[in-house]
Amino acid sequence: MRTETPTSETPTANGVEISALQTRVQELVAENAELRGEIRVARRAADLTAELVVQQFEETEAVLSRLQVVNAQNTAVLEAASEISIIATDLDGTITLLNRGAEELLGIHLRKDAGDLSIIDIHLPDELHARSSWSHETPGMHHRGIDVYEEYVAGGRSRGELWTFVRTDGTRVPVSLSITALRGAEGQVTGYLSAAVDLTPHQQAEQAVRRAVTLMQEAIAYSPVFVWETDAEGRLTFVLGGQKVLGYATDEILGRRFGELRREDTTCRAHQESVEAAVANREAFEHLLSCVRSKDGDHLWISMSAHPIVEPGGTFRGYRGVNVDVTELTLARQALEEMALHDQLTGLSNRRKLYDRFRVEVARLKRLSSPLSLLLVDVDRFKSINDQHGHLVGDDCLRLLADLFVGVLRESDLVARFGGEEFIVLLPETGLAEAHLVAEKLRETVQDAFLSVRGISTPLRATVCVGVAEMQPDRVMSLDDLIERADRAAYQAKAAGRNRVVVYEDSRD
Ligand code: GH3
Ligand code: MG
Ligand code: MG
Repeated sequence: MRTETPTSETPTANGVEISALQTRVQELVAENAELRGEIRVARRAADLTAELVVQQFEETEAVLSRLQVVNAQNTAVLEAASEISIIATDLDGTITLLNRGAEELLGIHLRKDAGDLSIIDIHLPDELHARSSWSHETPGMHHRGIDVYEEYVAGGRSRGELWTFVRTDGTRVPVSLSITALRGAEGQVTGYLSAAVDLTPHQQAEQAVRRAVTLMQEAIAYSPVFVWETDAEGRLTFVLGGQKVLGYATDEILGRRFGELRREDTTCRAHQESVEAAVANREAFEHLLSCVRSKDGDHLWISMSAHPIVEPGGTFRGYRGVNVDVTELTLARQALEEMALHDQLTGLSNRRKLYDRFRVEVARLKRLSSPLSLLLVDVDRFKSINDQHGHLVGDDCLRLLADLFVGVLRESDLVARFGGEEFIVLLPETGLAEAHLVAEKLRETVQDAFLSVRGISTPLRATVCVGVAEMQPDRVMSLDDLIERADRAAYQAKAAGRNRVVVYEDSRD
């Protein structure tokens, strides 16, 4: 190893100063380092640029695909919303875009009808005029129509107002119209966008509902019907038509229960039980007869139909029903039923009721093991009363005799007019001996009676023959057979001189 001793002279090598060389070398080294640094920077910059380019490219791609989606969505919305008519215009009102809904609603096809189609053409001029403040503020001044749009947008009055569109064929369509501004990049208004919904179906539905309500109100007003609702406690919460039937004004009756209006008589209670049973079980019921007292105290028969009001969750809210005043009908039916079971002349039961009652009494006789007796009562020489005084007097006489019979008999006995001047008396739970006594009492009553008949100055006198027959529980027979026995006994009484009672004896069989 060679060591060089530093000298005071400047060292040289081949005539070149070493220090200069060293400086140059250092400069070169520095330059080299600098260059390398720059290359690194340049490389880095290149890398970064590439990354940026890729990134920007990706972003652009993403934006593009988002745009495509949005575009597709917009087109789909425009086209799919065929229920809504969407019309875009420029500032002058010239239509620039119509969706399918608008085309269908108005009968316009922009491609075909392209040209200067203005939104003003699909408005009613009068309506535009009426809604423009120009016409009110500046009389005589004519607006261009689209000014109304301008005013609407400026005034923020753009939400769903009722307007009328005019189709190309001149027909009119009621629409709910919203007008909004189309704006450019700087927010300036570049046109208008109208969204309209055809109100025809709504108006038709509304009309149908209104018609139905009117019809219902009229039907209720002109018929003896009222509709009602109660809460869960049975208190009336709604009544329509009640005043006409019940006499109570609506506010007098709201909050009250049907029970408060009910009549308290036996016939009524029997019917009321069916209604109460249905309500207790929360059941629907139809045409159940009930009876109420009107405000004036009249007795009314009501036919009730109702069903429980139950919420979707199952909570019981009360009843809704229809009541029909069937008083006249019910009374007429009751009168008819009475007529069907009673003799018109005397008001006594007729043969039909006698046979019905006999069936009931036979069942009772078997159950109670007690006898039943029957009387056949025939007026003596009645023909002569008719012959002497005429048929009408005879009729009156029959009526008076019927009253006498009813007066003598118990409520549980039944007296029926069986033929012309023949009567049958059914005596339930009565044996022969007791029946004999009743028969005697009847005979005596008639014999002692003075029959005051209209138009005859002297009261008439009459007598009867009574045949008595009995039926024991162990020898049940038909009504005809029992009558036959009583008839035979009565015949005996006639033969024996009349005004008599004869008891049918079994030994005579
Ligand atoms: P007898 O003592 O034998 O019973 O004599 P009678 O005259 O009562 O008997 P008969 O059977 O011969 O006559 C019954 C009469 O009753 C004949 C008929 O004119 C009369 N008669 C039947 N039905 C009616 C009626 O509804 N009104 C009136 N006024 N008379 C009637
Ligand atoms: Mg007779
Ligand atoms: Mg007779």
